[in-house]
Amino acid sequence: MRKNVYTIVTERIMDQLNKGVVPWRKPWVNGGAVSWKTQKAYRGINTFLLPPGEYATFKQIQEAKGKVKKGEASHVVVFWKWLEKENKDTEKAQKIPLLRYYRVFEVNSQVEGLNSKREEQHFDHDPIEKAEAIYEVYIDGPTFTFSPGRAYYSPSIDQINCPPLRHFPKAEEFYSTLLHEMVHSTGHQKRLSRSGITTESVAFGDEVYSKEELVAEMGAAMLCGTAGIDNTIENSASYIQSWLRALKEDHKLVVHAAAQAQKACDYILGENEESE
Ligand SMILES: [Zn+2]
Repeated sequence: MRKNVYTIVTERIMDQLNKGVVPWRKPWVNGGAVSWKTQKAYRGINTFLLPPGEYATFKQIQEAKGKVKKGEASHVVVFWKWLEKENKDTEKAQKIPLLRYYRVFEVNSQVEGLNSKREEQHFDHDPIEKAEAIYEVYIDGPTFTFSPGRAYYSPSIDQINCPPLRHFPKAEEFYSTLLHEMVHSTGHQKRLSRSGITTESVAFGDEVYSKEELVAEMGAAMLCGTAGIDNTIENSASYIQSWLRALKEDHKLVVHAAAQAQKACDYILGENEESE
């Protein structure tokens, strides 16, 4: 049966969000989802739908003499199509957006006979020692991986992924991103057990989710502060602002989130009350 496109999109979004992916804070380059043919990044909702990779339609694959591997399932790319219709009351032309989708396959993993067209951009950075020290002092932290394209904390496997340092134009943004995910990880039930992390099936944009984002970003800003990194604060502030809007600008929540963020930072730095 052909599923309604809204259902497909909603399911995939929930799936991504349950993995902890927040795609629009993206201070790194490389590794996102791009069109194989044009190497242009997909935008909007598609950044939720597609894991990092290079995507081509069946027709593009055929034209390039490639072949989809047996049993590979396609991914969905959505776009808006504008339909012109006359409004009966005003007799004026009206544009109605229609959500449409097409199917694509990831060239490197799902297709035979095509080569990657990706050219990666790299930046040379020296590690920032004080920030590295925070990473090292987090004794019972989660496992870490550094694969390109996405930053997330997955509570179910207690694992953080952060794109590598060389994919960030600014070294400071790498640490800010990594620390943000580290703060999330303190919410795991075996650590500080914060509802934003321990609640199963948190819906994107709901209050629990938004609060957890506030805690993570404020915590990251605090840890950056302790490492002497202060040029990421603007990004953090606009990110926090966007979540505050979701929380109806309730500034009391910032105070509450700040207290939780402080706790999280102390936890990472090994300064919890028990150890005093
Ligand atoms: Zn987050």
